[in-house]
Amino acid sequence: MPIRILPVEIASQIAAGEVVERPASVVKELVENALDADATHITITVEGAGQKLIEVADNGIGIPRDELQLALSRHATSKLNTAEDLFRIATLGFRGEALASIASVSRFSITSRTKEAEMGARLQVEGGKQGDLQVVGAPAGTVVGVEDLFYNVPARRKFLKKDVTERRHIDALVTRYALAYPNIRFQLTLEGRTALHTSGNGDRREVLAAMFSPDIARQMLEVNTIYDHLTVQGFVSPTNLTRSNRRGISFFVNGRWVQDFTLATALVQAYHSMLMVGRFPMAVIFLEIPPEEVDVNVHPTKSEIRFSQRDEVFSGVQRAVRRALLAYSPVPMVQTPVRWTPFPKREFGSKTELSDQPDSIEYSEDVPSPREQASIGGQHSLPDSSVPLLRLVGQVGTAFLVAEGPDGLYLIDQHAAHERVLFERFMAQRGQEIPSQTLLEPVTVELPVDSDRLLEEQFPMMEKLGFQIEVFGPNTYRVRSIPSILLGSDPSAAIRVVIEEFEEDETPLMNEIETKTIARICKRAAVKSGQVLSPEEQKALLNDLEACQVPRTCPHGRPTMIHLSIDLLERQFGRKGSR
Ligand code: ADP
Ligand code: MG
Repeated sequence: MPIRILPVEIASQIAAGEVVERPASVVKELVENALDADATHITITVEGAGQKLIEVADNGIGIPRDELQLALSRHATSKLNTAEDLFRIATLGFRGEALASIASVSRFSITSRTKEAEMGARLQVEGGKQGDLQVVGAPAGTVVGVEDLFYNVPARRKFLKKDVTERRHIDALVTRYALAYPNIRFQLTLEGRTALHTSGNGDRREVLAAMFSPDIARQMLEVNTIYDHLTVQGFVSPTNLTRSNRRGISFFVNGRWVQDFTLATALVQAYHSMLMVGRFPMAVIFLEIPPEEVDVNVHPTKSEIRFSQRDEVFSGVQRAVRRALLAYSPVPMVQTPVRWTPFPKREFGSKTELSDQPDSIEYSEDVPSPREQASIGGQHSLPDSSVPLLRLVGQVGTAFLVAEGPDGLYLIDQHAAHERVLFERFMAQRGQEIPSQTLLEPVTVELPVDSDRLLEEQFPMMEKLGFQIEVFGPNTYRVRSIPSILLGSDPSAAIRVVIEEFEEDETPLMNEIETKTIARICKRAAVKSGQVLSPEEQKALLNDLEACQVPRTCPHGRPTMIHLSIDLLERQFGRKGSR
């Protein structure tokens, strides 16, 4: 074929491919335009998972009638004048191609009126071809209607996911923006039903509740650190609230939702050693940074960015989040009033497995909510994650140790504490010979069908951890030795516990599997609730815990101890003015 210049429509469709990948991308561009237009009220209506109709209406500044046709041309924008402006972008849009792109792959209409104008104007475009400008009555603001998305690019339609998935993307997107702009009223109607309605009263927790759940919203910890050139604000989950993937993490930079792996990594690193490997926090973080220090013109959808001071941003995020976590998490303090309820019966063996489904949120323990935490003023009282020297008082409920520290009473969960101790010991031994015990009689273990391949792939790793296993028949194995710390427990149960780990969906790294396996082994080997400990055993456990690097949480992120401060005790006994 000879070289020739492509017809405009084809060129636009190609360009549109970059901006408009799916219905949610249309919603994103239109919502961003409404935000740039200073709207305080944005209404989004979606039908047919966005393929039939997407309508975004706002009460923003509107478009003057004589500019409406221009707004739809490619590279037409009111947000950028010179090339230098690119490096101080304060608006969400600037490329001037969203409307043109969307209009080239849909049946498109835009109706707009500025406050000053008496009449509004309306323009229809089909597959990139503009109709005549009509003068119509309209409220101040802009309404964009996108019908039959991709009707003229059937190939695109094929790449769309199931309707539920496309709807989920739209919902997640609008919710994120509602969170980033809590002063703006968002209303999202999906297939005739209200999916999100925010009040615009500025309360982010309210939006968080819609995003996760009221309960989770209540528990999220507030991050708020202001550096010289960087402000880090938002919410992160406490260490006992995790997911099996990174999907609960969102970042905004100067009000723009961005996808940035490095930022997510900084966040996850802030939880270092507080979460079990393979579990991820949930977070919504808003960064404010001088516009000239961010390059937003990296990708057509503007969701990737570059920082000129990447390292500073990275460590800023990490430190701000770490600070929020340390201010709260390590020793949950009991808030007033203390309710004297019997110790709950707990099945340690089964408790955390409950919600290990992919994508599920794991609650590992009931701990006081962050707000309650904050109200006790625990913010600065626990600057690091160590524990003070403790004097053992005794064991209660065959589940907890009671100890006294310089600043009050500590209740220690014996199982969680022992898990932490064993875990750190095991991790320290990694790479060396791990003490292993040969069984007097090899034990034959039969595993569920299909778990055999999973297990065999892990033989080398299991061997490193002190297991010696060989194939004995289909789905049947012979265990010759087990790690010493598991001595006394049923080897077949131990192996079953270990293979559960391999069945998890997101365990890409060998290293992670190994760490998770170790955590499982330690959980199995740790003393249980209900087990009577001799005074020597209690004392040893306490000493071992004090020596741990992260003594305040178990490897799954649950607290190992609860602190009742002297102050609290005095108030409870009426020795100090109660609040
Ligand atoms: P960009 O947002 O990158 O400038 P768009 O194609 O999204 O490009 O929009 C083109 C122009 O149309 C914008 O610069 C703005 O002037 C105008 N515009 C688009 N949507 C709206 C809206 N909802 N309210 C007011 N003006 C709008
Ligand atoms: Mg735009």
